Amino acid sequence: MPRPLHATIHLDSMQHNLARARACAPQAKIWAVVKANAYGHGLERGMRGFAQADGLALIETENALRLRELGWVKPVLLLEGIFDASDIPLLAEHNVNSTVHCIEQVKMLEYTQLYRPIDVHLKMNTGMNRLGFRPDEFAAAYQRLRAVPGIRNITFMTHFANADELEHPRLSIGEQVRRFRLGADGLPGERSLSNSGGVLHTAELVQELQSDWVRPGIMLYGGTPGGRSARDYGLLPTMTLKSEIIGIQHLQPGDSVGYGSRFQADRAMTVGVVACGYADGYPRHAEHGTPVLVDGIRTTLVGRVSMDMMAVDLSPIANARVGSKVTLWGDGLPIDEVAHAAGTIGYELMCALAQRVRVAEA
Ligand code: PLP
Repeated sequence: MPRPLHATIHLDSMQHNLARARACAPQAKIWAVVKANAYGHGLERGMRGFAQADGLALIETENALRLRELGWVKPVLLLEGIFDASDIPLLAEHNVNSTVHCIEQVKMLEYTQLYRPIDVHLKMNTGMNRLGFRPDEFAAAYQRLRAVPGIRNITFMTHFANADELEHPRLSIGEQVRRFRLGADGLPGERSLSNSGGVLHTAELVQELQSDWVRPGIMLYGGTPGGRSARDYGLLPTMTLKSEIIGIQHLQPGDSVGYGSRFQADRAMTVGVVACGYADGYPRHAEHGTPVLVDGIRTTLVGRVSMDMMAVDLSPIANARVGSKVTLWGDGLPIDEVAHAAGTIGYELMCALAQRVRVAEA
């Protein structure tokens, strides 16, 4: 018998969430972001779940090529661009669109003899200060790229630091849009601005956010970048992590649980030991109070998460036994809620799902 821990990937919910993104930004084409193994869901499942997307965006050249091997014929975008000039002919051959965010990448393209045309995304740094040319450098970078024989379409992109908050005091989405306009206005080419936060707030915001392309990630996986819950946006969970109770302990007042004895019972109580730990991707920082479902009933974690196990309070569950079903996140228990209780974000939980966890599709 295999260990009872498994993740279920809901392909129909992935399709549903993609349709939600389309409904939010009906004018735009969608790059479904499938980086980090499709946020832990598996690259190939990402490809199937988002078959209706207009393109898939990720990080590594080898995964872009893998998408081609798997039969993806629509556009592919590398979000961090070219890491090595020797990749450029390969990208052109397989029609992979690459981000260009720094002068070194412009030079790589200038020095490479291109036998096939290549499309690129020119990235502007509008305040996040991660990747991209500043607004005042942008037109010059564009002119250099335009002069490279073989470069076909140049799309202009930027990335929002705080798209989940409309009015961030340090860097608002409106300010980033203003800087984007400053650098890109008048230049001919498509625009790509919004991540999930931008897509979800499109209706309330400026027109550019519904621009030619949007790049949602987390919302397609049934999470949100912050604030409101995914359910409020009509998004469905795409990953459910489930396990079982594999042991039961009856505590007396004063007894403690787990490493560090962080939890101490103040009454007689029963705890269940669940086959799931931090080596499976469950956050070790989750502590007492983090929600869990046992036989569909809500209870909480107690004590420290260990490598392969964790303990849950069985007081609210009438007939808990070894073999009772436990939902760690997903269907019935939003991943954002678990992440919040554990001091992290849904993105991290999905991406951290360990290889040893069996994965099935529904
Ligand atoms: N675009 C870029 C350049 C990104 O790096 C990411 C992810 O971080 C996304 C889009 C998708 O972001 P989100 O998952 O918040 O929608």
